[in-house]
Amino acid sequence: MLDLSPEVKLLWDKINMAIQEVILSGQFILGPNVKAFEQEAADYLGVKHAVGVNSGTDALVISLRAAGIGPGDEVITTPFTFFATVESISRVGAVPVFIDIDLKTFNLDPDLIEKAVTPRTKAIIPVHLYGHAADMKAVLAQAERYRLVIIEDVAQAFGAEFEDKKLGAVGNAGCCSFFPSKVLGAFGDGGLIATNDDHMAETAKMLRAHGSAKKYFHEVIGYNSRLDEIQAAVLRVKLPELDRSNEKRRQVARRYNDLLNEMPGISIPYEAPCAKHVFHQYTVRIPGGKRDKVQDYLSRQNIETRVYYPVPLHKLPVYRESCSVLKNVEQAATEVLSLPIWPDMEYDLQEYIVDKIKIAINL
Ligand SMILES: *Cc1c(COP(=O)(O)O)cnc(C)c1O
Repeated sequence: MLDLSPEVKLLWDKINMAIQEVILSGQFILGPNVKAFEQEAADYLGVKHAVGVNSGTDALVISLRAAGIGPGDEVITTPFTFFATVESISRVGAVPVFIDIDLKTFNLDPDLIEKAVTPRTKAIIPVHLYGHAADMKAVLAQAERYRLVIIEDVAQAFGAEFEDKKLGAVGNAGCCSFFPSKVLGAFGDGGLIATNDDHMAETAKMLRAHGSAKKYFHEVIGYNSRLDEIQAAVLRVKLPELDRSNEKRRQVARRYNDLLNEMPGISIPYEAPCAKHVFHQYTVRIPGGKRDKVQDYLSRQNIETRVYYPVPLHKLPVYRESCSVLKNVEQAATEVLSLPIWPDMEYDLQEYIVDKIKIAINL
């Protein structure tokens, strides 16, 4: 699915040096690299503050807490996402309210927000799935109308844009993940909260350090959730290369588009004119009940593909009580297939994969 070795080889010396410097400095927690990376990430995203935490999941939990969301509150989101999006809502004691998606972008359909709002609705979490922006213009309009906090799940879309703004800088807070397979991946877990809100940034910093702004003076119950100094040092080497590597992903995606465009039985990913996609995943749709057969055939040819996500979250036993019928989500779950993609993927390999897909679809 993913070959990270070309990128690591390219940056080998710089990464090695950065890690060794941290070890020699003896400062492993909230040291100079975290501080510098927070500034560099804030500048890159175009926000006032960035707060490093230990995962994308914790970025979501801490952002929700910092926005004052808790028991009794409802948060609108999509069930077509990684479990962590919705788990974080439950972990702060709030209730997720699921709405259906737009089948073109796989992201939540903002026209459905209005019907889902109740007097308890406090926030909305749009997820920029696969690296493509949710329709933030419409989300912003609804959020303003109903006074909802917007917490963007940017885990799959670091560097992606909506109307020339970096995702994560559009809502009240943007939650980023540096899980190794993400477009900006660390060598372990890591996450970040981006925000222009001084109060949210301050509260998030307090929450990540056991609820204390001043050591040993704990004001609230918090977490042990810091971005690791070694991971920050690695990310500082990788961030300046990100635009280049995202551009390479876009090029690989365009080549897939050209190869797959005319093929019957498969539809290529949509990219909205106002969005800049970073192709964390290159995800096609194969309708007509053929997706699993195609995936099986490819797997027998040693081509690894993935289904993100086979079980919509509202269908999981833990969220059974939400019992909604979300037609587009359920359809997408049976049709989507993510093909291998990484920045330095060779054209020959793409041609080989597409040839096998052609055989599989006609079987
Ligand atoms: C990866 C991911 C997360 C969680 O990030 P971690 O750093 O793994 O905790 C949250 N939401 C989405 C959409 C993700 O893809």
